[in-house]
Amino acid sequence: MPKTLHFAIVGAGTAGLASTILLARQNIQVSIFEKAAKLDPVGAGLLLQPSGLAVFQHLDVLEQALQLGAEVTGLEGQLADGSLLVNSHYREAHPQYFGLGIHRATLCHVLESGLKPYQDWVSWYMNHDVEQIIEQNNETILKGKHGQDTFEMHFDAVFIANGARSQLRPKAWVETDQPYPWGAVWKIVPECQINNPKILHQFYDRSHIMMGILPTGAIPEHPNQRLSSVFWSLPTEKLQSFSTQNAQPEWLDEIAKRWSKESDWLKDILKQTENQNVWLTAQYRDVVMKQFGQGRIGVLGDAAHAMSPQLGQGANMALLDAWALGQAVEYSMQNQQLDFVKLWQKYHEIRYSATQFYQFLSRLLTPLYQSHHIWAGPLRDLCFGFMYKIPYFRKEMAITISGLKTGAFSQLDYQDIAQKTPLNIRNTLK
Ligand SMILES: Cc1cc2nc3c(=O)[nH]c(=O)nc-3n(C[C@H](O)[C@H](O)[C@H](O)COP(=O)(O)OP(=O)(O)OC[C@H]3O[C@@H](n4cnc5c(N)ncnc54)[C@H](O)[C@@H]3O)c2cc1C
Repeated sequence: MPKTLHFAIVGAGTAGLASTILLARQNIQVSIFEKAAKLDPVGAGLLLQPSGLAVFQHLDVLEQALQLGAEVTGLEGQLADGSLLVNSHYREAHPQYFGLGIHRATLCHVLESGLKPYQDWVSWYMNHDVEQIIEQNNETILKGKHGQDTFEMHFDAVFIANGARSQLRPKAWVETDQPYPWGAVWKIVPECQINNPKILHQFYDRSHIMMGILPTGAIPEHPNQRLSSVFWSLPTEKLQSFSTQNAQPEWLDEIAKRWSKESDWLKDILKQTENQNVWLTAQYRDVVMKQFGQGRIGVLGDAAHAMSPQLGQGANMALLDAWALGQAVEYSMQNQQLDFVKLWQKYHEIRYSATQFYQFLSRLLTPLYQSHHIWAGPLRDLCFGFMYKIPYFRKEMAITISGLKTGAFSQLDYQDIAQKTPLNIRNTLK
């Protein structure tokens, strides 16, 4: 009788939790290592795209996410004169597509509840900081610290899902690993009702001023209190001083000069939330890898392909990684024996070009929204103004934002991801 496979997942973020569900579902014993003492994700909301929602359906957690999250039908980006530069709606990709604004705590809660049916297959190692991963003699050894103690455990394979700043991804696979010069500050506020609450609203002036208001729905502890996340883009050297040096009056002035309705709303909100003046800072990395796995080690989520959140794809790509891992394991498993060569061939077939496509676009677009280049804003306004007039480009942009592209001329089908039975992946690459 073949022995049950035992895998380790490093990091209980989006990629780690979703992968754990899909491995446990295939009767693989999973140990999940998380350096935080408890699952308490900080950070503002994010936007799940149709691709991420398809994975949620595949994971059986979509219903729950829809109850707490906020349906988003599109993205509208206003310039300083009030005209719309970006006007992209999911229905242009497919009449039934939409996005879901979701708080990070809710995302984590929903994935954690998706794990409940597989409890017997999962062991938790919270407060375990993994420091080293070694592959030898048909096993993978994981070493790290648990409080003052060290630990060493052996597994059939290890999947690294410990986020953008991972020090565990094999160095030889990394092509690029660098911080972006710009980031953002975020604040969670009561739901913004002054504009259509089903739209992600963005506001831009040239390439150095950008604000966003994203509806994110509720957190599990307060299901009736609807929330939004407000973000403001800044060069990284200004992130810390934003809250500590009280730069907010200056910020509100900048907004009032351009978008008076939003500035009045923000002044009101800031007054109401005076005693919770919490601004979260976010910095991004650009991580490009030559490969995502080999032998008994794999890299998933931001650890494998961190990028700027300009296209709103990071969590969705983490979910697609988990889905692809599930598909590749199913494809390469026979009598509880895994063929790791087949597994990585299949995984790369599903994920490599899709990841390259989104990373390329994100690198191209980020300086058009977050930089001090004089040419960037006018170039963006000219190109986008032209592209939105052409139905083909409008549709392609909506499909791109939906997260389903696998290359410039190919895409995945929502239903193929959402269904539970294994796929002949080649048939899904349309
Ligand atoms: C400002 C901002 C806005 C964003 N907006 C969007 C959006 O709208 N849509 C979208 O799809 N994405 C968005 N993203 C991206 C998204 O948040 C990430 O891509 C996604 O969370 C990546 O998930 P992950 O599981 O790979 O990593 P993470 O969520 O970072 O999880 C990694 C986990 O690993 C743990 N860990 C780290 N090191 C170790 C270790 N050594 N040992 C054990 N555990 C460890 C961490 O504690 C953490 O729990 C945004 C990101 C930012 C910064």
